[in-house]
Amino acid sequence: MTLFEQIANHEIPATIVHEDADIIAFHDIKPQAPYHIVIAPRKPIPSLDYVTGDEAELLGKMIVVATELARKFGISDTGYRLVFNCGRHGGQTVDHIHLHLLGGRQLGWPPG
Ligand code: 5GP
Repeated sequence: MTLFEQIANHEIPATIVHEDADIIAFHDIKPQAPYHIVIAPRKPIPSLDYVTGDEAELLGKMIVVATELARKFGISDTGYRLVFNCGRHGGQTVDHIHLHLLGGRQLGWPPG
């Protein structure tokens, strides 16, 4: 079972900010910004590289949840960033697809 499945099953503690039948969201344990939330589907798709058209609705829902959380945490006016890391060069460390919501400070570009 992946780390994020264990968080979704409440087997590993996390500060959960959203849960529904398909998606879970929680504060990142090592935040890179004042607001750093991980949005993951319950379905353990390993990475973006495994996505097919069957997952289009699920991926859309992840983005919608992220935008709702940005509004909930009051960072939608100042702006934020959504990031999918994919694979080694993309910086992915947990092999369970997830979206990062980062905000609460000026973010640099391009990323390092
Ligand atoms: P990735 O590097 O795969 O794009 O993102 C994985 C994220 O999961 C990292 O930002 C990392 O800090 C976070 N993370 C890793 N282990 C845990 C954990 O046990 N709990 C929480 N809340 N976040 C974790």
